[in-house]
Amino acid sequence: MRTPALLSLLLLAASLPAAADPAFTACLDRLRPAAATAGIHTDTFDRHTAGLVPDPTVLESLDFQPEFRTPIWDYLAGLVDQERVDDGRAMLAEHAELLQRVQAQYGVDPQTVVAVWGVESNYGRTFGKKPLLASLATLSCAGRRQAFFQSEMFATLKLIQSGDLVPEGLVGSWAGAFGHTQFMPSTYARIAVDFDGDGRRDLVGSIPDALASTANYLKRSGWRTGRPWGREVVLPEGFDSAVSGRQARRPLSAWLARGVKPASGGPISPGDDATALLLPAGKPGPAFLVHKNFDAIYSYNAAESYALAIAHLSDRLRGGGPLTAPWPTDDPGLSRKERRELQTLLLARGHDIGEVDGMIGTKSREALKLEQARLGLPAESRAGQRILQALREPSGQP
Ligand code: CA
Repeated sequence: MRTPALLSLLLLAASLPAAADPAFTACLDRLRPAAATAGIHTDTFDRHTAGLVPDPTVLESLDFQPEFRTPIWDYLAGLVDQERVDDGRAMLAEHAELLQRVQAQYGVDPQTVVAVWGVESNYGRTFGKKPLLASLATLSCAGRRQAFFQSEMFATLKLIQSGDLVPEGLVGSWAGAFGHTQFMPSTYARIAVDFDGDGRRDLVGSIPDALASTANYLKRSGWRTGRPWGREVVLPEGFDSAVSGRQARRPLSAWLARGVKPASGGPISPGDDATALLLPAGKPGPAFLVHKNFDAIYSYNAAESYALAIAHLSDRLRGGGPLTAPWPTDDPGLSRKERRELQTLLLARGHDIGEVDGMIGTKSREALKLEQARLGLPAESRAGQRILQALREPSGQP
């Protein structure tokens, strides 16, 4: 429940010290006894909430309705690009012995574990930018999901109290996911394991703990050792696509009987898996048959595009190639390298888009819209191959 008075205080607080926000202080006073009931000592609570400044930007994120919906081909072009495949292969080599031990204990193969790592935190390079406790305390005191975020805040304090987490420098996403695996604190409390044996479950500072915890998550989500997540397939002429959807499960044999074939050719390994057909862009684009292990990946972050990114990246890490079928667009998406090049071209044309970071945000999209209009292209503010190629041309330059 949003309280306008508190929100204005929070907005004001962005430029003032914490002591200047009585509503936030009063909220923390109300949370203290509830935290004690949850097993958090009062001195732990006070030490780690003293000096916290509410962050109004996380409330904006909570209510943000994206006006720009990312097409799946853009989403996958950024998440499964050559850079992430190359980095992932380097990680497989560097951590080969560790990943073998993780596989022996949890039954999840190295490529899947590394693919989750690559999508969640770019192999430990991006943990998020928001101070974790400040975000969770803000969301516990204002906004529409306060009870949920209070329990996440308490879970964080308990992880600090138990010594699993070091409070200094703890950052995450605006919603509180953090570390190599981007677990929410309550998931961390439930799933994280100490795999390097130092007595702490540390998903921020320990790669062994993080990779084993990812495997533990998938195992607990029903991972079946040695089985595929699924595969890209080709549909026969005149196929009735009404039978698609993750919930519409049939035995694999039923799909084969309908003429569905693996895109890579050859036979599909036999199995009686409950199998679903996914058509992420509708009938004209790539099609996938998915099994139980796809659901285990899906449970990590409930979005089919997300699970497909991890599944496809894991295939690429096994040596597989790009998807066989093209996406139904005449303007394919950009890799992160191409996005950085596009941003550099926008900067060269005098657009104030901030840092070249490969993340197409609001400022980059505004600049793209202007350039697309200038070049007579659809001013859709989307970063695709068409605008990149136009700006590469000498005529695209000033
Ligand atoms: Ca540890």
